[in-house]
Amino acid sequence: MKDSRGCLDGFEVGAHGYSHEDFTLLDIETAEGLLKQTSDTIRDLLGTRPRSIRFPYMKATPELLGMLPGLGFSVDSSLYSPAESCRPYPLPNGISELPVLRDPGSGRTSYLWPAHEGKRDYGSFISLAESVPDDGTFVLCDHSWHICESRMNGIRTEEDIGKTVRGLRELLESLLDLGCQPMAVSDAVSIH
Ligand SMILES: [Zn+2]
Repeated sequence: MKDSRGCLDGFEVGAHGYSHEDFTLLDIETAEGLLKQTSDTIRDLLGTRPRSIRFPYMKATPELLGMLPGLGFSVDSSLYSPAESCRPYPLPNGISELPVLRDPGSGRTSYLWPAHEGKRDYGSFISLAESVPDDGTFVLCDHSWHICESRMNGIRTEEDIGKTVRGLRELLESLLDLGCQPMAVSDAVSIH
């Protein structure tokens, strides 16, 4: 491993496109080439290829999912499920799907995006997590840059960063208090 200082211990680096492309707009050869380039780049940086992927914008097609095994991926997390089905399940191509929660009634998902943009309380994710069965998996989704930059307002001030981190910390502490066990995507799949 090239992470000689162990900064990534306990974490898993998955793929999320090469530059956040909407893969459903690309022809299949271009899409496959970009997925390979993404995997190669992560391997060059970290020494290991990514095993898991979430397609940008949660936009994956059966055709895109079908090419994942040949590129070394064994887990996808680009599909939504209601709370009662939030647990890993096999896809027809043999890889595992770890779905992201989307509540059919409210349309709310477990993506932190609206909270980071001030459109939802961080606390609202707790009731979403509570709606997942005890043997299910609650996937909390985020973009690492979102702590430092708002999509609507640009680079955050130090004060805004502090507020965002506090909101996130309180949410994570509440989820731990609920009994959630944090784990990497591939680990969540392998224990099921
Ligand atoms: Zn994204």
